[in-house]
Amino acid sequence: MDVVAHKVRLSRLPVWAAVFVVAVCAAILALSGWSEWASRDNELRGAEVELGNLTRSLAQHVEDTVELADTIIRGVVSELEGEDGSGPAVLRLQGIFNSTKSSLGRVRGVFAYDETGRWLATTENVALSNYNNADRDYFTHHRRSADRSLLIGKPVQSKAGGQWVITLSRRWNHPDGRFAGVVLATIDVAYFSEFYRQFDVGPHGTIRLMSRDGAMLAHSVDPVPDMERQSVVDDIPFHPSFGILHVRLPQDDSERIAFYQRAQRYPFLLVATRTREDVLAEWTRHFYVRIAMVVGLVLLICAIGIFLVRLLLQGRRLALALTSNEESFRLLAEGSSDIVTRIGLDERIRYVSPSVLRLLGWQPAQLLGKRALAGIHALDLPQIEEIMASIKRGETEEGRATYRIRRRDKSDIWVETTLRGTRTDDGRLDGFVAITRDVSQQKALQGKLETLAIEDGLTGLANRRRFDERLLEEWGRAYRERTSLALLIIDIDHFKAFNDSYGHPAGDECLHAVAVILADEAQRSSDLAARYGGEEFAILLPNTDPAGCARIGERIRRAVRDAAIPHRANPPSEIVTASLGGAVCRPGSERSAGPASLIEAADRALYAAKDGGRDRIIMAGDVMAFAPSIVPAAAHL
Ligand code: GH3
Ligand code: MG
Ligand code: MG
Repeated sequence: MDVVAHKVRLSRLPVWAAVFVVAVCAAILALSGWSEWASRDNELRGAEVELGNLTRSLAQHVEDTVELADTIIRGVVSELEGEDGSGPAVLRLQGIFNSTKSSLGRVRGVFAYDETGRWLATTENVALSNYNNADRDYFTHHRRSADRSLLIGKPVQSKAGGQWVITLSRRWNHPDGRFAGVVLATIDVAYFSEFYRQFDVGPHGTIRLMSRDGAMLAHSVDPVPDMERQSVVDDIPFHPSFGILHVRLPQDDSERIAFYQRAQRYPFLLVATRTREDVLAEWTRHFYVRIAMVVGLVLLICAIGIFLVRLLLQGRRLALALTSNEESFRLLAEGSSDIVTRIGLDERIRYVSPSVLRLLGWQPAQLLGKRALAGIHALDLPQIEEIMASIKRGETEEGRATYRIRRRDKSDIWVETTLRGTRTDDGRLDGFVAITRDVSQQKALQGKLETLAIEDGLTGLANRRRFDERLLEEWGRAYRERTSLALLIIDIDHFKAFNDSYGHPAGDECLHAVAVILADEAQRSSDLAARYGGEEFAILLPNTDPAGCARIGERIRRAVRDAAIPHRANPPSEIVTASLGGAVCRPGSERSAGPASLIEAADRALYAAKDGGRDRIIMAGDVMAFAPSIVPAAAHL
């Protein structure tokens, strides 16, 4: 149940991570989209406000300009009407015109006409008699209409200067109210056009001045584009007196924001337009940069997300693999007759397979958390500790040891363990796995083999090989320690005849009996009794002087006799007897030829004993020089 829950938790994590990344990306895109839309809207709204302010102030400007001209017109009208256009009045007027010509400012020119359209006075520098303006629209209008208000006419081409001008005119009357003429002031169309061009409405923006009835008076673009002649005025409502229009001119296919403003005191209409494209140009430029950054950010998050999800998926696969590894590990461990143990770095048991019950008598659960090295024989412990230490140091991955371990019933068994370090994914050592098997039987067999190698099968004494080894060792020790080394060689008398008389098996028994005697006599641990060959025995007696050696030899001789093994072919006693040859040397203080010379000397002494009649011991002399040429002096004891 727990494992299932764990797996489910594992499998959902990458999905949640992917959902989270997608949600973050979507949120970023939505937020930046919303913010871009808001800033675009802001930009458009700002442009509307700007256009509104601009047209308001331009309306004010045109009114002020017209008011200035109208003030002049009204002054001239009252001047003329005051004296009914008499010669002196006209002259005075011309005088005033001449003197104020240069200070007219925005007003281009002022003209006074009589009822026939003849020029009475003007600020222009022209011969008056040459012109007649009776054909102008404004003239005919004033002549026909008694209305004395200001008339704003369509732009006309000046007769005096040839430039396009806006005409402002009033009628002046004779005292009886009849039409007496017209006073006219003109303002250059170019004046407004240039003035409007000073305002920044973008490369495609326009500012235009129109009369209330829709006639174009001045335009910021010169010459006025044809399409602009197609007025937007149709769309402009009469109320309110200002407002915003969003228009699309079919000619240039551009969407425009237009702000219109009607002048309050005079019949003018000001319209300023900007194309959406111009308004949003700056925003659009930054928009692409910002969108590129946002898209970059989203792609980066996506890349990190994909990396993360893949990592999680990989982790999940690894965890699943580990789980199945763990399961197969247990399966193997639990099916094995060997003990499989998991050991932590703290050397405590994490897991132990059930076979521990059969081998050591413990239930696995009883060992969990216990020290892994507990129960190992004190003499064997260091080698296991050394293997663990060298795995920890990283010097080796695996080690093998054979050692004794205590079972639950307090008996010891021999086991062989292969110890291996286990590592985490990143290569850190996290513990050990030990595979332990019972090698008691092999160990016993090995012990037997070892004994066989050094023991004589018939007598249980050391064999010749073992004797030779020990002789060399003891010779070396005696040499170093300047002590003496004694050797006895024992040979059973007429043994061939014994065999002949009693049979070979009886001979073997006899040999065994003599061997027991010898083993008894070799009392010190350093003494070594060996079967030297056939029915010959040898006893190596380290640190023994000739007297001691002779004494032991004699004891042996007696003991053989005392055994009283019948031997009818051995007269006169007719019991088994033995002859002994003894030799003693001091390797450290004598010039000698080595261990072989000691054997040789003892052998000679033995021959001497045989020659001397058997059943005796002959020593090769108290102090012997072991040169082979020297024949030892045999002596009876
Ligand atoms: P001597 O008194 O001169 O020593 O006479 P001997 O008969 O003992 O002389 P020799 O050394 O020639 O004879 C040794 C005999 O020991 C020969 C052999 O039959 C016998 N022998 C050697 N090894 C064994 C053995 O393992 N078992 C038995 N039963 N007899 C053995
Ligand atoms: Mg012999
Ligand atoms: Mg013999």
